Amino acid sequence: MANKIRVTVWGENVHEHKNEKVAANYPKGMHGCIADGLLEDPAFEVTVATLDMPEHGLTDEILANTDVMTWWGHMAHDKVDDAIVAKVKKRVLEGMGLIVLHSGHYSKIFRSLMGTTCSLVWREADELERIWICNPGHPIVKGIEGPYFEIPMEEMYGEPFGIPEPNETVMIGHFEGGNVFRSGCVFLRGNGTIFYFQPGHETYPIYHHETVKLVLKNAVKYVAPRGTLWKDDCPNVPEDQAPVKISKK
Ligand code: ZN
Repeated sequence: MANKIRVTVWGENVHEHKNEKVAANYPKGMHGCIADGLLEDPAFEVTVATLDMPEHGLTDEILANTDVMTWWGHMAHDKVDDAIVAKVKKRVLEGMGLIVLHSGHYSKIFRSLMGTTCSLVWREADELERIWICNPGHPIVKGIEGPYFEIPMEEMYGEPFGIPEPNETVMIGHFEGGNVFRSGCVFLRGNGTIFYFQPGHETYPIYHHETVKLVLKNAVKYVAPRGTLWKDDCPNVPEDQAPVKISKK
């Protein structure tokens, strides 16, 4: 019980109330569907948090008790309070895992952690995406049969993708219209591990897709803290506490 990975699924929860297609795909919200997918694995304890909650559902208590956070946002990135973003970033640097989904590429938290534009090219044309596995031995793709998996309809996200060079590129998406994209990337920041995963346009039922659900479960385990959290407060080490006595002439 004590060893469960505590996941907070953060969702913007706006499209679900404005677009019938999104509401039909996700009657419990996109965050509800992502949470249900994760709960198929008894290794996880899952909390949901949304933009409209006080402090966007990310209170100090929730943040202190989150091992891994997933983040889906799109049309309301600018409504997310900078003070909350700073707290989430601090937790990532200490060692909390973060999974940024689809249009979360433009979220304040992802751009702040990357330090780059995080822009990309895109097209909404109901096209097939084939996601190729770059490293079949990587824990994030464990259990996927074959060299790729397909998403029947997805929004095209294409290169150039304005990210720093990832620490690991796990997947590359190829779209019917010919564009390619670094669809699954791992970044290390401070003591934290971040996974960016491209699938998840709101008008398609992508978080019901079995392989997408499998990747999310694997990713939670992969980005979860691996040891002691790093509380980096830049401590001074006075001479008399130096590990070895310093001799002076
Ligand atoms: Zn989208």
